[in-house]
Amino acid sequence: MSTSRVVLVTGGNRGIGFAIAERMIADGHRVAVTARSGEGPAGSLTVRAEMTDAASIDAAFTQIEAELGAVEVVVANAGITRDTLLLRMSEEEFTSVIDTNLTGTFRVVKRSAKGLLKGRFGRVILISSVVALYGSPGQINYSSSKAALVGFARSLTRELGARNITANVIAPGFIETDMTAELSDEQQKQYLSQIPAARFGQVAEIAGAASFLAGDDAAYISGAVIPVDGGLGMGH
Ligand code: NDP
Repeated sequence: MSTSRVVLVTGGNRGIGFAIAERMIADGHRVAVTARSGEGPAGSLTVRAEMTDAASIDAAFTQIEAELGAVEVVVANAGITRDTLLLRMSEEEFTSVIDTNLTGTFRVVKRSAKGLLKGRFGRVILISSVVALYGSPGQINYSSSKAALVGFARSLTRELGARNITANVIAPGFIETDMTAELSDEQQKQYLSQIPAARFGQVAEIAGAASFLAGDDAAYISGAVIPVDGGLGMGH
């Protein structure tokens, strides 16, 4: 059993974030989730936050600090897609995905940093994607935002690694959630044909990796990209 921590999961009202929050609660952690609507799982503290708005993130942290204590494990999970081919992609479609997925992560991790340093402990877990390093047509905005998280985690590791703070990336493959339900049958069939495991992943399988990274056994793992993708992206 790992030490009980204060864990924050962004976008914890559904999908992968909800499953990570559930698993962290089962692991004995005190868990807060951010949500724009809806609630996190039973036993979590739900706070409102919009990833594109630093002030709302600041307010969410202040509320968590008051109710649970300083955040020790940060899971930056909230993210969006706005898929279209490069020739059709507007600058707004590009920058809005970067703003949520990459700058949103920056806002959250930056707000957490003082507390992590003060507590002399930190686990930063960034939810990227297999397409960060594999590439994906129609996802230049999304894959760019997700690839940048690798540089983010590795620079953070070099900045704060000596302070008992780790930063790692989870790169999920095709996981059954609302996000992937949006893909056409044709796209789903094509992905499936490329996945060595010959099936899509479940949210609990991402939660398992996050649980491990938050736990005592992962203290010496930092700057890693952990694929949870049934073998789709081998060679990362
Ligand atoms: P969902 O679309 O099911 O959920 C996305 C979550 O992010 C929701 O909680 C949503 O909140 C939140 N969110 C989105 N934009 C914002 C914002 N601007 N401010 C605050 N919260 C926001 O996605 P998944 O669970 O499938 O994905 C979770 C993460 O995993 C994402 O980062 C995604 O890129 C990544 N991922 C998913 C894969 C998959 O196959 N599903 C594969 C690889 C990576 P709200 O409900 O309010 O919209």
